[in-house]
Amino acid sequence: MKIKSISVYEIVSPFPQGYRLSRGRKWTSFESTIVAIKTDAGLVGWGELQTVGANYLPAFAKGAIAAIDVLGPQLIGKDPLHLDRINYFMDHLLYGHPYAKSAIDMACWDILGKATGMPLCVLLGGRFEGGLDLMAAPYFGSKEEMLALTQDLREKGYRRLSVKLGGDVAEDVSTLRAILENAQPGEEFYADCNRGWTRDQALRVMRQIRDLDVYIEQPCASYEDCLAVRRRTDHPIILDEIIDSPEMVMRIIADDAADLINIKISRVGGLTKARRARDMCVTAGIPMTLQDVGGSGIVQAAIFHLAQSTPKEFRHSVFDPLSVVSDPLTDAPILVRDGAVVEASDRPGLGQDILPGSLSDPIAVYGERG
Ligand SMILES: [Mg+2]
Repeated sequence: MKIKSISVYEIVSPFPQGYRLSRGRKWTSFESTIVAIKTDAGLVGWGELQTVGANYLPAFAKGAIAAIDVLGPQLIGKDPLHLDRINYFMDHLLYGHPYAKSAIDMACWDILGKATGMPLCVLLGGRFEGGLDLMAAPYFGSKEEMLALTQDLREKGYRRLSVKLGGDVAEDVSTLRAILENAQPGEEFYADCNRGWTRDQALRVMRQIRDLDVYIEQPCASYEDCLAVRRRTDHPIILDEIIDSPEMVMRIIADDAADLINIKISRVGGLTKARRARDMCVTAGIPMTLQDVGGSGIVQAAIFHLAQSTPKEFRHSVFDPLSVVSDPLTDAPILVRDGAVVEASDRPGLGQDILPGSLSDPIAVYGERG
């Protein structure tokens, strides 16, 4: 099989109320890059990456488009079924920029699933029993706003909640206490400052909430600061934004630096590398939150298949991108049900295709048009 063409689409999903994180970061829209890879066998694979905003991770939408412009022409004629080889080739052509490679890798996995008639979770290791406990995030705001947002997500069925904190010690402690005091049976909470605390701030917050049953997520910006904080607290620690590769997961395991690891598919470079990172965590006995930065039904499908192929005791929660962006763009999005426990699709590949008419014209096409 050969790649015949790669089409690139730009998507902007408005978020007028503003998605807020620590240190004053705020975004009123999310930019996604969607790719469609067509093969000489008539198959179409879909892939997507979202960056939230240019100051969330070392990734931005225009960067993804520029990187795909380097990769796209070179991938025409290559066999999309050889996933590790495709990744090896992309790393040879372009150093770094894992987020951009993720969309291409995802589309090739979709093609592999469609070519073999198997859902991705089978190809990623097999369908493990049990549903996926979905996670959503009350984003940063005043205590009252965050209590209301938490209640809204709770009513939708979410039982795993990543509470976004702002970086002010007194405010963060007060918000966390208010939300945790109202916790319902079966709910679990992550206190996520998204790199927003300095070491001393993190330690002061943790001292003041020592009685609360909550995970502390990515407290500081640098790995060294997170490690320093981790060595001085008895709260379970989650690392998230810092995890940019399977190599980083290997280092975290060696340093005993986290109790739970968040794997974002595009952050580590795609499903191929996310699977590698996932398998290391399983081997080391570290549970995960399987996730991505965000996206439409395409990213949702990729996350759910990766999670469904992970043993149940190692998937602490699974991020639902459709808890943020409400238009799935796809024909078979998985909608949250009571308890927010769902299963990955049974259809071949990702199990979701972009609905005809939901994309504008491509901004770039490599290979044969049409
Ligand atoms: Mg996080």
